[in-house]
Amino acid sequence: MKAAFLTGIQSIELREAPRPEPSMGGLIVKVKACAICGTDVKMYKYGYSAAKLPLIPGHELAGTIAQVGENTRGYQEGDRVAVAPNIPCGVCFYCQRGAQTCCEKLQTIGIHRDGGFAQYVAIPAQAVKQGCVMPVPEGISFEEAALIDPVSCAINAAELSRIKVGDVVVVIGAGPVGCLNVEVSRAFGAQKIILVQRSLSRLKEAEFTAADVYVSPLKEDIVERVTQETEGRGADVVIVACGSGQAQEEALKMVARRGNVNLFGGLPKDSPFIKFNSNLIHYKEAFVIGTHGGSTRQCKVALDMIASGKSKLRNM
Ligand SMILES: [Zn+2]
Ligand SMILES: [Zn+2]
Repeated sequence: MKAAFLTGIQSIELREAPRPEPSMGGLIVKVKACAICGTDVKMYKYGYSAAKLPLIPGHELAGTIAQVGENTRGYQEGDRVAVAPNIPCGVCFYCQRGAQTCCEKLQTIGIHRDGGFAQYVAIPAQAVKQGCVMPVPEGISFEEAALIDPVSCAINAAELSRIKVGDVVVVIGAGPVGCLNVEVSRAFGAQKIILVQRSLSRLKEAEFTAADVYVSPLKEDIVERVTQETEGRGADVVIVACGSGQAQEEALKMVARRGNVNLFGGLPKDSPFIKFNSNLIHYKEAFVIGTHGGSTRQCKVALDMIASGKSKLRNM
């Protein structure tokens, strides 16, 4: 089969490789779509300590079952499936508390083991056992199904940021994942969504989303605008979906009392520090949290959301 191997920093090689064999309890998926995640770009540009090279990256994938391993139940050759790439151990302290994204032994397809930038990918028994391989309903394309992982990250963000009906939500960063956060915030009941993005062209491209207000700091003061849009209160939830320390600092200024700030995008590892007035958090009784992934359950919710056709996720 053909596969793209990450062989070093900024080095990807298309090579011929043996087609993988299914393990006992595992599956082989013929890849039909595999999206490029920000994590893939990070791995390519700077390396990634968890990834042992050479590695076939790619964790946002969907395809058909090409081969069923011995003792693997519930799947047949030809089944259309989407794969939740994060494989929880199921037994550690965090898994038992239902916090799969914090699993101490989390294994990710395309990071800890070969992924979907290939014609075939091996899905281990543990992933099958944990329900990571999900049937894709008719009427939803492989490209859409490949998005369940990033959508699950936005669902995790919305859940832990406690977005509820009637909230004003600000999303900073209108990249693909920022746009997904807009759609998911709407699904969670946000009443007004303000999308912030510096680049005007990118902001324009994001106009297909469910956001109500589009703002660029190149044109206006974003904290002031959010204050205006919320009758002076600030936003109930601010999701920082970009890797900018300055955006994180501004998020604390635009959040309402008792509001939630979610540091959704990680900062570059050589400059992860920010400076802020901690009295903002103190007097506002604000909550600051971070989220970084999605669970198997949240991937299933993502798949159902996409399949329902009610959101604009298809436009992605
Ligand atoms: Zn991803
Ligand atoms: Zn675990």
